[in-house]
Amino acid sequence: MRAAIYVGPGAELSVEDVEPIAAEGREVIVRMEASGVCHSDLSVIDGNFPGPPPTVLGHEGCAIVEWVGPEVTRVKVGQRVILSLSPVCGTCWHCLRNETHLCELGLPLLGTLRVRRSDGSVANALMGLGTFADVATVHEASCVPVETDLPSEQLALIGCGVTTGLGAALNTAEVRAGDTVAVIGCGGVGTSVIQGARIAGASRIYAIDPVALKRDTALQLGATDAVDPDDGDPVEQIRSLTGGRGVDHAFEVVGNADLMTQALAMTRRGGTTILVGVPKYDVSLSVPVLPLITQDRTIKGSYYGSSRAHRDFPRFIDLIESGRLDLDAMITKRFGLDDVNDAFAAMRTGEAVRSVII
Ligand SMILES: [Zn+2]
Ligand SMILES: [Zn+2]
Repeated sequence: MRAAIYVGPGAELSVEDVEPIAAEGREVIVRMEASGVCHSDLSVIDGNFPGPPPTVLGHEGCAIVEWVGPEVTRVKVGQRVILSLSPVCGTCWHCLRNETHLCELGLPLLGTLRVRRSDGSVANALMGLGTFADVATVHEASCVPVETDLPSEQLALIGCGVTTGLGAALNTAEVRAGDTVAVIGCGGVGTSVIQGARIAGASRIYAIDPVALKRDTALQLGATDAVDPDDGDPVEQIRSLTGGRGVDHAFEVVGNADLMTQALAMTRRGGTTILVGVPKYDVSLSVPVLPLITQDRTIKGSYYGSSRAHRDFPRFIDLIESGRLDLDAMITKRFGLDDVNDAFAAMRTGEAVRSVII
C-alpha cells in the first residue's frame, strides 16, 4: 500500500510503499475513498505544528471498512465511515459530559505506530488517522458510520474542515437568526463557518480574504458582503459596514495573532470573538483586559467545532441532502495520492478553497 509520509520540516511528502503494522483489538482497517487536504497538514509540513517525523499525514477522510479487530462492536465490514479527527471513546470524563471533541483517547492515538517503511523505520499517523494512504488502520472510536449516497469527496470534508467551521458557528458561537458575523479567512473552514452562519439565519455575513477566488466562493456560499483587506484596514471596513458598532460574532480562521487582534477589534461591545484557525504552537495573544470586562466581551477557542461527531455528522449530511449545505462548491481541485504535493502547492498559492485526494 502507498502512504504519503511527512519526513521532516520543509520537505515534500514522501509517497512510498509501506507495510501496515498488524491491527488488533478495537482497531479497524479502512480503504480510503477520499481525503481532504487541510491546512493543519501543511502546518505539520512547515514545522509549525508538532508532528514528529515520520508521520503519515491526512486527517479528513471517508472510507470503507475492510477488516475489524476481534473487540470491535461499533462498525462492520463493508460499512462506509467518516473518520473523525477526534475519537469518541464514549466512557472518558469528557465523553460522559457530552464533550466528545475533547475525548481523552485522542492523545494516546497520536502516538500509535501504524506503518513500517521499507528502511525498517516505523511511522505514526496524524490524529491517529493518516488518510493520505490507500488503506489506514484506525481505532473504531475514530469511525462514524454513515448511510447516504453522497459522494465520498464531500463526506471526507466533514471529517475536519466542515465540522470545524460549521460547528464553530452552530455549536461554539450559537449564531442566531438576525446576528451579524465576520469571518477572517475563507478557505475550507472559513467557508464552512459562513455556511453555518447562513443556515443559522445570520442577517449579515462579512467574508474577509485577500484572495478573489475565496471571496467569490464565500459570496456563492452565503456571505452577504466580501471584504478585501488590501482595500484598507479590514477593521475599519467592518466598522463602517456595521454603523461603527462591529459584529456580534467575529471568527478568526487563519491562526495568525494579528488577525486574531483584528477579529477582536471588529467584534461589537458585548459580542464574541471565536478563534478557530490553528496557530503556530508558540503563538500567544496580548489582549488589553479592561475592555474585556467593561465591554462585556467574550473570547472563545473552538476546537473541532465543539462538535459531537455521532450527532453532528448525520446532521450535516441531512443539511447537504436537503440542499442547505453546499460542499460541492467548496471542492476546487482534485489530485491523485501520487500528486499530493501538488495539492499543498495549490494551498500555498491560495488557488484552492479545498482540494481532495481521490
Ligand atoms: Zn484539518
Ligand atoms: Zn472519550
